[in-house]
This record gives sequence, structure tokens and C-alpha cells, in this order.
Amino acid sequence: MPGDKPLADRRIRRQIKSGSRSHGLWPPNRAIVLEGEDRKGLTRAVKTRFGGYLVRKPDEPAVWTEELVEGELGAGDVLLRVRYSALNYKDALALTARGRVLRTFPVIPGIDLAGEVVSSEDPRFAAGDRVFATGMGVGEEHSGGFAQYARLPATKLQALPPGLNFQTAMGLGTAGFTAMLAVFALEDHGVRPTQGEVLVTGAGGGVGGFAIALLAGRGFAVTAVTGRPAQAGYLRELGAAKVLDRSELAKPGKPLASERWQGSVDSVGGIILANVLAAMKRGGSVAACGNAGGAELPTSVFPFILRGVNLLGIDSVHCPASSRARAWQALAETPPGAALEAMCRTEPLARASALAADLLEGKVRGRVVLAVE
Ligand code: NDP
Repeated sequence: MPGDKPLADRRIRRQIKSGSRSHGLWPPNRAIVLEGEDRKGLTRAVKTRFGGYLVRKPDEPAVWTEELVEGELGAGDVLLRVRYSALNYKDALALTARGRVLRTFPVIPGIDLAGEVVSSEDPRFAAGDRVFATGMGVGEEHSGGFAQYARLPATKLQALPPGLNFQTAMGLGTAGFTAMLAVFALEDHGVRPTQGEVLVTGAGGGVGGFAIALLAGRGFAVTAVTGRPAQAGYLRELGAAKVLDRSELAKPGKPLASERWQGSVDSVGGIILANVLAAMKRGGSVAACGNAGGAELPTSVFPFILRGVNLLGIDSVHCPASSRARAWQALAETPPGAALEAMCRTEPLARASALAADLLEGKVRGRVVLAVE
């Protein structure tokens, strides 16, 4: 603030600048630029220039730049030093200019982020607090986690709960949260371990992997569907009792097939989801999370009107606050530790763009946590 005195003993250098660069792209932000960390290693300041990905215009891929300024972070009342993020399917689309997921420009992508508060104008947070965010438009309609700093409305932030650290929170991230929402949706519709097998599609990915682990941890017999049968050992390690080759569900099928599963978490959509619906047991439920295999749904009304099958939509971005709190509480109280270890690898943020292409080709296993140095 203009009236603050320099805190030399904390090795903090504060520069008060007037009229910092605004590009005319966002409303100009506070013109204070700070640098340094205190003795505890807490960031209390913002570098004048910092690194991150920026998407300047629609249909343009993200570029890595070391020249981001605070004015490029967008509006919000909490300024953060981002420590970890993660690479989600949606982030991969945003980084590579596919799928039109971004809603504002220029924008820093990254739908998940974790870090510590540098400064807050909201009484809910104070400098040094450890927080994280997933979804809620972060990295889509508001600059997100793929930079060293972020500024967010306090309403989009959650305090890091005991039981999670930055890396485990981002290992779970949107994928773990979505899987938890899907499992709750199935349970809330009466799916129980005693009633038969459940199916998880997109098993090699983030949502699929956590869905397997969470369901298996609750006593369900899980069948994992994968296009990478060589990963069968890994999927069993996550908790799958059976592994099914994706090709068995990839061809257009009948509107109704033999009843096989009582529940399913699907992150691929398309023909596979249609075939899953056709093979659900009477009264079974499918939690539809994603479209990694296609956005169309070539099904009929028969699974719904002849077998009472429930198709449950999962929206992790704008789900009610009570559902968000319930899911994160469950994840923090009993984090799927073995799954996190098996599924997650950590890479530097600057590699996200290269990894995005691999992820969209279905070559990434589990989760990539991004370290923001
Ligand atoms: P990942 O890329 O981590 O996983 C997707 C998995 O789907 C792949 O690993 C692969 O698994 C499988 N897959 C890939 N391509 C195809 C294909 N052409 N046909 C069938 N299966 C395929 O992504 P996420 O787990 O992060 O996300 C999965 C989906 O869920 C995405 O569409 C994403 O946008 C969506 N999503 C939705 C959320 C919501 O709120 N509704 C939140 C989070 C994600 P394998 O090789 O084992 O077959």
C-alpha cells in the first residue's frame, strides 16, 4: 500500500508504481508491485514480471511467457502465489486451442490451482493462508492456475483442509472431485456394493482412475474399461476387479442389451455411453461426466422407460456449494492415498503445453500435477 514502510528485515522489496501496464485488456489493477519472500518462505510480494501461459485470442494456442504482469490476472480480492496446478482434459483443450473452452481473452488457463495467499481484501483469507480452487470458471472465464500468480474472488477459493497438501489437492483436483461427485450421485440413487458390478470408462484417465479407487474403496466390484489393455495391472492396482477392452463397447449396439451393471461412472460419452446405458440392470444409474470419446449420445429411450435406468449428469464446475463441500470433506478425510501415488506424476508447469497433446491422444496415464516454480 502507498503508506506501507519497506520491511528490510524480511528481505522484501516493495515498489510502488503508478499506472502499471494494463494493456487496456482488463480493468487496471492495483499499481503496487512487490517482490520477495519472508523468513518463513512465504511469498508476501509479486514479482514485476512472472512466468505462465497466456492465450491471447480465440483459436490461438497458449504461449509460455516470462513477461506476465499483475494486471493480467483479472479481477478478484485475493492474490495468490500459485505453487501447484494440474493438467485436466479441459486444460489440454485450452492450451491447444481446441474445444473452445475459454470464455474470455486474453486469459491464463488452468482450472485447478493451489498456493498461498499473498494479500487479501476479503476477511475470509489472510496473507500466508494455504488455499486451492477447482473449476467455478477458473481457467475458463477467469485467469487460472497456469502462472506463478493468480488473483481470484474469495468465493472461488477454499482453505486447504487438514489431510491434504498442495500436491495431493492438485493430484485430486477437478478429476478427483468429479469422481467423488459421481460416486455420491450413484449412492444417492441407491447403487450399493451388494447389488452387482459397477463399470468405469476412461479408466486410464484422471476421473476414471479416481472413480475406480473410490468405488473399490467403498466395497464395489469395479470393472474398468480402457483402450490401453496393457495398463490392466495398473488398473487392478487402483482397485479394478476386472478390466474390459474398450473395443468391446465401441461399436454401435442394440437399444437394449443383456443386463450387466448396476452402476457406472462414464467420462467418455459417445457410443460407449450408449452401450453402457443399454446394458444397465433394471433401476441402475450412470453418472455421465465427460466426452473424451465423443459428445454425441446415440441412444434410445428404452433403457429409461423399460428398465428405469437413471442418467445422472455431473457438473463439477458449477455444482452447488453444499455438494462441493461434501465431496471435498470426504476426499480430505480419507484421501485415496494409494491411488494418488499410483496415478500422479509431477512435471514443471512449462511442460504443460507439450503434455496437453499427449493427453488429448489418450497417452497420459492418471494425473499430471504441475509444479509452479
Ligand atoms: P483424461 O484425459 O485424464 O482421461 C480420459 C480417458 O478417456 C483417457 O485416459 C482414455 O482412457 C479415455 N479415452 C480417451 N480417448 C478416448 C476415446 N476416443 N474413446 C474412448 N475413451 C477415450 O481426462 P479426464 O479424466 O480429466 O476427463 C475425462 C472427461 O471428463 C473429459 O471429457 C473431461 O472434459 C470430462 N470432465 C468433466 C467434468 C465435469 O464436471 N463433468 C470434470 C472433469 C472432467 P483409456 O485409455 O483407459 O481408455
